[in-house]
Amino acid sequence: MNHQIRRTTTRLADDRELIYFDDSEPYVSGGATRRLDDPRPLGDDGGAGADRAAAGHAPVPEGPEMRFDVLTGEWIPLAAHRMNRTFLPPANACPLCPATPGSDYSDGEIPDTAYDVVVFENRFPSFASVPGTAPDTEWSLDGEALWPVRPAFGRCEVVCFTDRHDAAFAALSPQRVRTVIEAWADRTTALAELDGVEQVFCFENRGREIGVTLNHPHGQIYGYPFVTPRTAALLRQSEAHHARTGRKLLTDVLEAERRAGTRVVLETPYWTAYVPAAARWPVEVHLAPNRDVPDLPALTDAERDDLAIAYLELLRRLDLFFVSPDGTPVPLPYIAGWHQAPVREGRDLARLHLQVFSVLRAAGKLKYLAGSESGMGAWVSDTTPERIAARLRELAP
Ligand SMILES: [Zn+2]
Repeated sequence: MNHQIRRTTTRLADDRELIYFDDSEPYVSGGATRRLDDPRPLGDDGGAGADRAAAGHAPVPEGPEMRFDVLTGEWIPLAAHRMNRTFLPPANACPLCPATPGSDYSDGEIPDTAYDVVVFENRFPSFASVPGTAPDTEWSLDGEALWPVRPAFGRCEVVCFTDRHDAAFAALSPQRVRTVIEAWADRTTALAELDGVEQVFCFENRGREIGVTLNHPHGQIYGYPFVTPRTAALLRQSEAHHARTGRKLLTDVLEAERRAGTRVVLETPYWTAYVPAAARWPVEVHLAPNRDVPDLPALTDAERDDLAIAYLELLRRLDLFFVSPDGTPVPLPYIAGWHQAPVREGRDLARLHLQVFSVLRAAGKLKYLAGSESGMGAWVSDTTPERIAARLRELAP
């Protein structure tokens, strides 16, 4: 299927980029254009545009910074300005809802009164580029060589999956999910081309239990200025596996899961979902393409079509996973994140996969990351991967 979308780019009042991804008429054929002007008086409230405007003359660059943790070898961005961001506003003040028809002013982020899928730069970014500053600009905290500091270069974007405030990703049509996949792939390519970006991460946090600050169905995209710790560990493992066997680790894992079969929960022509053999969360499932693919832009049209179907089926089952004492299913709070090959490092070792997991261990009960997990990074699972897989299989149509 050739999925038609129209991509329309504009700039918000503080110069942040906003892109409409339209799959419906009259927009997709160009018969009409989405509203492009943003009349809001956005000022120096910590927006990325204000950061940019202020940048360029100080010896220490303006904008978010990150410090190197010499104890772990990881970069820690300091996003102190994010403390002021909007927290769980009511539906009538939701910044992701479309503008109210007939009103000439809206405090929402999207100028038009309706949209299909929209992506825009986060007003409260953890990572932002500063023109005139090189990504590898480095200085020392307190003049000590032990503590390198760099600008937290990169980009943070918000993806609105639908203009309906009370919807959920799982309730989208396959066609709309397909448009979201196009948006993810488009942004992965665009962010990878930005100066200093080393890895692109598309993800969705869903549910208050995960710390979501806006209920409107949305996800985020981070363009990181480093390879993330999780990916760095995966690349180390993949490299060792390749040195030992000459093979790709994630390909072998998928083949082994398919051979064992006990943790496979879903198979479609192009995708396989399985609970990983050493899953650490109370609910965790990985969705991987059957073909070796580094990232979302490398997927074919057929793989993207099939992904929309497979992902919706997976989310449907996850929302039935736990049932409250009165028998009603509990919408699962979850984090869904796309693991993609980094922009430069280890591209031939990495392989695309989606990881969906939850902190919910029973209806109304959360798994807290306590002493062992938080203090030592040493995980103890409360269940077994086989039990998670059995439950997900039981919920098959
Ligand atoms: Zn909303």
